[in-house]
Amino acid sequence: MARLATCKGCGKPLQPGEKVMHNSKSYCSDCYASIKRYSEEYKNLIEFICMNFELDKPTGIMFKQIKEFKDEFNYSYAAMTYTLWYCKEILNKTLDKKYGMGLIKYYYDEAREYYEQQERLKNQVAKLENTNVITKRIKQSSSKKNNSVSLINLEKY
Ligand SMILES: [Zn+2]
Repeated sequence: MARLATCKGCGKPLQPGEKVMHNSKSYCSDCYASIKRYSEEYKNLIEFICMNFELDKPTGIMFKQIKEFKDEFNYSYAAMTYTLWYCKEILNKTLDKKYGMGLIKYYYDEAREYYEQQERLKNQVAKLENTNVITKRIKQSSSKKNNSVSLINLEKY
């Protein structure tokens, strides 16, 4: 009797029906889904880099940095993309290929905080939308203060 293949991701034995092949390795559907998501996130990161650093493809150093962030700091590709986006769009930083992806290391935590703050705001808005429209109008007009993002020294880098 043939041995059951095991998932290359989590190691569980795979019934013939649940085996998914990817790069000639077998995976369970859960692991395959996360591989797909991962490669999608990776693709997005590479695209973001190319577009914003004006490159055809990331430089060797950038690839090295991506790997280092992932292996040593456990950053996800999506979080790296978000941090770059945050530096560019929120902090108005120039993404300069001379410095590569070094910004990520310095602004990762801040970008993450910003992200969480945005999520909280979104939840608050969702909550507000559930309450009575009149209450909502009063609340909106009385709380016009900005949720200002703390602007750190832009010249520092
Ligand atoms: Zn698996």
